[in-house]
Amino acid sequence: MPVAPDPRTNVAAVFTGPGRPLEYWTQECAAPPDGGMTIEVEMAGVCGSDVHRLDGHQAYPGHPVTFGHEGVGTVAELGAGCDRDWAGTPLRLGDRVFWQPNGGCLHCRQCIVGNSAMCERFPPNVKVPADQPSAAAFQRFAVLAPRIAAFRIPPDTPSAAVLALGCALPTALGGFTRLGEVEPWHSIVIQGCGPVGLAATLLAGMTQARQVIVIGAGRGRLEVAKRLGATATIDLDTGSPGDRRERVLELTGGGGDVVIEAAGHIAAFQEGLDMLAVEGRLLILGLFSGSTTVPFNPVDINNRNLRIIGSLGAQPSARMSTVLLAQRYHAALNLADLVTARFPLEELEAAIDTVREGSTVKTVVEPNRSRA
Ligand SMILES: [Zn+2]
Ligand SMILES: [Zn+2]
Repeated sequence: MPVAPDPRTNVAAVFTGPGRPLEYWTQECAAPPDGGMTIEVEMAGVCGSDVHRLDGHQAYPGHPVTFGHEGVGTVAELGAGCDRDWAGTPLRLGDRVFWQPNGGCLHCRQCIVGNSAMCERFPPNVKVPADQPSAAAFQRFAVLAPRIAAFRIPPDTPSAAVLALGCALPTALGGFTRLGEVEPWHSIVIQGCGPVGLAATLLAGMTQARQVIVIGAGRGRLEVAKRLGATATIDLDTGSPGDRRERVLELTGGGGDVVIEAAGHIAAFQEGLDMLAVEGRLLILGLFSGSTTVPFNPVDINNRNLRIIGSLGAQPSARMSTVLLAQRYHAALNLADLVTARFPLEELEAAIDTVREGSTVKTVVEPNRSRA
């Protein structure tokens, strides 16, 4: 007679190297450490960086790893001394949280100055071996050390709304913090309408900017961009870079005061610079991998008072802000509807394929779904 599985048996998706199929390891679920918590993962978003991992574009750490960095789940167990989230909100068993698996040490120079994404002790490319408890989201139970930021999700806020743009919304929030002020006479141009571009569109639509112009591919995604705040869209598939620049100059009357690169293609860098108005700012959010270089004219930067701003990672508060934005806007913007594909954990590879193909707006896996 079959024995019912232990409700606390963990199953984790494990990456064992580029080109190798994912493995699913059954493990005993570890108790949470003092000050930490164990989360029953409800939903884990698939990110473009997961595609890069499987395709070998990121360095393999040399040992099997768990992964997944966009997780929402319920508190299954609280470690000794843990009774609140990172914002001080009381936490009880069964509460849902949104957490940031790749947390910093909180004590090194980078962490102290607000760059925990560049932590010297726990840089993002250092991964916990798969046979140890981890905060990774592609598993049934995630174990959060006290240094992992977690924020309670209010009961009125759907999990899918929090994950609608995945890690892209915290990324865009970090970018807007580094960008600085947006005035009512500013035009914002966004290159790309993948999750980072859409997240930037949402935030741009909340500024005072008079215009938000989104350049991207895919009718469906451009429609979503309009729903999230774009005042105009330019279809990438229907013109040349010169046509796009002309259209931006026509719409803005002189170029974008802010251009946000969220395309992830090196060609977007020069195209973005060419679209800037005098005193314009180019915010780079999407060029975080690869090693291609491009020539550009520094005299143009000097003589037109341009600024180029890079942005990698965000403060833990960006996860809190993501929860608050989802709470406030999920109904008005139908944010939960942006999750257009859901897979069980054991079909994670198929889920990642949908992101590689760009065939969905947001893909998630539901690690505990098959157990229902
Ligand atoms: Zn990501
Ligand atoms: Zn650190």
